[in-house]
Amino acid sequence: MHQPLTLPPGRDIRLADFDPDFHEDIDRADAEAETKRHSDALDELAYRLYAESRRAVVVVLQGIDTSGKDGTIRMLAGGISPQCLDVRSFKAPSALELAHDFLWRIHAAVPAHGRIGIFNRSHYEDVIVVRVRQLVSRSVWEPRYDQINAFEKLLGDGGLTFVKCFLHISKREQRERLEERLRDPRKQWKLGPDDLADRTRWDDFQEAYDDALTKCNTHHAPWHIVPADKKWYRNLVVARILRQTLAGLDPRFPAFDSSLLTKLD
Ligand code: AMP
Ligand code: MG
Repeated sequence: MHQPLTLPPGRDIRLADFDPDFHEDIDRADAEAETKRHSDALDELAYRLYAESRRAVVVVLQGIDTSGKDGTIRMLAGGISPQCLDVRSFKAPSALELAHDFLWRIHAAVPAHGRIGIFNRSHYEDVIVVRVRQLVSRSVWEPRYDQINAFEKLLGDGGLTFVKCFLHISKREQRERLEERLRDPRKQWKLGPDDLADRTRWDDFQEAYDDALTKCNTHHAPWHIVPADKKWYRNLVVARILRQTLAGLDPRFPAFDSSLLTKLD
């Protein structure tokens, strides 16, 4: 069994063509064991990236409510030293943020060289929730796809690697997760009226995602469609992607100044 995680830039991405419950032939125990191996490797790779301090990586997590953004962050952060990590969540913009261009708050949150950033939501909200809830007019959100591509190119040229993950869940799985939130006193706080209202616009969200994934799937910053109905498979896929990306960067320790060897009294 196979399902692509990425499509070549220029091809239409239709979420309806991707199975959110896809999980290869792997079972939960094997997936968790493999995730642990990636997580251990990530700790070492993040340490090298930090020591090298010339490049940075940002994991962008997008997905509808309950798609597992928080859980994915818990998994990634469990394996990487907090010193190397910057986790940022993007909520509805403040008055100050709204008084700037939509990328202002994002740019300010971009990790410095040597660090791994994790974005819980991102600039993509400005072509998704903003479009679906009609917070600005089409003439404002439509040019944003090109603006996002140019922004990501600029950052890429400056040494930032994007790992963009869309956490893909089914409408049925979202219902189960929302129901659990409604019943579990430890999770009720996560629910707001907007979440249930957004669910009634499920198809509009899928369409907005299809457009964002298609138009912003570039060579310099491709999108990954992560099957996310099974939390353990989602974790495995994200851990794998991040490990492969960091291994590809092959961060190196800086050259050692051997004259220091003679300076310790
Ligand atoms: P949560 O991630 O569940 O804490 O919710 C954050 C909320 O902020 C979600 O409903 C997002 O859609 C919303 N949000 C994030 N970014 C924006 C934005 N740029 N404009 C409007 N709403 C946003
Ligand atoms: Mg929410």
